[in-house]
Amino acid sequence: MTDCIFCKIIDGEIPSYTVYEDDVVKAFLDISQGTPGHTLVVPKKHVKDLFEYDEDLAAAVFSRLPKIARAIKKSNPAIKGMNIVNNNGEVAYQSVFHSHIHLIPRYTDHDDFK
Ligand code: 5GP
Ligand code: ZN
Repeated sequence: MTDCIFCKIIDGEIPSYTVYEDDVVKAFLDISQGTPGHTLVVPKKHVKDLFEYDEDLAAAVFSRLPKIARAIKKSNPAIKGMNIVNNNGEVAYQSVFHSHIHLIPRYTDHDDFK
């Protein structure tokens, strides 16, 4: 899909800071960092949202989250926890319509993110 910003990032047409990449996903820093290290895990196959995944793609993408989360945590000893956020549909605050999973590091008991 040529007008998809995340397809362009996956194809290298738009620059991004890659955190992790393999044949199934690309994980890169969110341009707007909720907290430092805020990462988007994006399937290389263009699916709009959760409702478009089949079981094989879901298994492949979601099973990679712990490994990517560990890599982010290892990169910064100050990271104490992490939120996983996945917005599906405009009413659920999805703004880029190529499915992605937010990994948002947490640093203290009371830090906040938008
Ligand atoms: P959503 O609101 O759809 O769950 O999240 C979309 C995310 O994509 C937002 O957090 C936004 O900052 C991020 N984003 C939008 N455009 C770009 C871009 O060109 N590069 C990167 N790295 N992130 C982007
Ligand atoms: Zn796309």
